[in-house]
Amino acid sequence: MKLTAVNVLSVASLPVIVLAHARHPNPHNYRQVLAASPSSSSPLSSSSGTPASGTVVSTTLLPTPTGSTPSISLQSTNPTAVPLSNIVVNAPSAATSIMPSPAPPGTTPSNIPKAPGLPNISTLSPGNYPPLDRPPPTDSPEVQQWIKEVQESGVEIPDFSPTVAGGCPANPDAVADSSRCWWTCGGCTRETDVTTCPQKYNWGLTYDDGPAPYTPDLLNYLDQVKLSATFFVVGSRVISYPALLQQEYLKGHQIAVHTWSHYSLTTLSTEEIIAEFGWTKKVIKDVLGVTPTMMRPPIRDRVRAICEAMNLIPVMWTRISPTATFDTDDFNIHGGVTNVQQVLYNWENILGNVSTIDTGFIVLEHDLFQQTVEVATGYILPDALAHQPSFKIQPVVECLDLQPGDAYLETNDNSTNPLPISSDGNSTNSTSSSSGQSSSGSGSGNTKNGALTGAVMNIGGLAVTVVLGVLAITL
Ligand SMILES: [Zn+2]
Repeated sequence: MKLTAVNVLSVASLPVIVLAHARHPNPHNYRQVLAASPSSSSPLSSSSGTPASGTVVSTTLLPTPTGSTPSISLQSTNPTAVPLSNIVVNAPSAATSIMPSPAPPGTTPSNIPKAPGLPNISTLSPGNYPPLDRPPPTDSPEVQQWIKEVQESGVEIPDFSPTVAGGCPANPDAVADSSRCWWTCGGCTRETDVTTCPQKYNWGLTYDDGPAPYTPDLLNYLDQVKLSATFFVVGSRVISYPALLQQEYLKGHQIAVHTWSHYSLTTLSTEEIIAEFGWTKKVIKDVLGVTPTMMRPPIRDRVRAICEAMNLIPVMWTRISPTATFDTDDFNIHGGVTNVQQVLYNWENILGNVSTIDTGFIVLEHDLFQQTVEVATGYILPDALAHQPSFKIQPVVECLDLQPGDAYLETNDNSTNPLPISSDGNSTNSTSSSSGQSSSGSGSGNTKNGALTGAVMNIGGLAVTVVLGVLAITL
């Protein structure tokens, strides 16, 4: 793409405090955030305008926590991008796009042969589901049934006590217990974790935490540039935007689980975690007619054994060292913890690391907030599209060389993508994949990730013996 101009942007004084991907606001605050968002039916916001043109944008950043003043130079931006100076904490709410109407029942996505038709969601009643952004109760008949199914799956759930709030510093014993293989505190991964795309320069494009008011802007932009992504959705928010979820699915995007309430899973009991996954799978099935096979844990933690027992493959993001995680930190613009310039600097660092690894990559981004959508559609995606060598940008399921239909139980091809739990409800895991091999996250992630697809593909193709006391470490 020809580079045509250089715009030097001055940056207003903003706080630059870069933290790890911070906890989401508590559910009550989150509800208020959404409630405060506009729901007008005005035309598309500018962030969903025309695709990128060849424009170099240089921006001088505020000092980072290390005291330096980095600069960035994007290869391309969206000509209708929201100015960086407007992508800030407490930014005035931009008009949102028109929310889609429910799709006609029976509609099927064109990219998934034999997909069941969409259910009729006109009768979907929030009263039939747990409340928004709260861990569901575990004494309901639905959850009791899912607990029973997990118990009968053959997957042994490690008897780890829940961690306490406060992350790594508040849980020194859990951090020291290597058998937990805690991703959050140390970056430990297992072979069953997806953390990257196998092929170099393949990007498994993902967005977390929706559906949300500005998700349509992102969908419009992805339409314009003909990209598909994986959306890790929060089950209770699907209740708020079921037709939006249908639109994501019908447009060819992959839908995957991001829990019901977005609580830190490791702080919940096994029964509560089952409830989180079960309700999210159920609401997605109720809205789309299909059940996801992949999930991403919120707040950087995960519970592998329960994922396995509930046929969910954990998908994280790429991490090549403790200080080089592929996390844009876009989530934290909204709360003022970071700023958009720092996010773009993080993005440029990610790009720098992409060229050094032998595999593709997965980046953590969000469609939850106006700011996260604006930085994605205005800057990150146009810049990615202009990158040389060019990226192959796909949903995660496709970057793993699987079919779009393999993203759902109902359309999965068991001959090429055996899932953890067979159709008879039993674990199909093998001793070979439960060897307990793990990565500390200190530079060995690529090798792990390169082997990952094979590990996932082979699950179920081998012996049925389950040795999950080691493999299925939670956290
Ligand atoms: Zn999240």
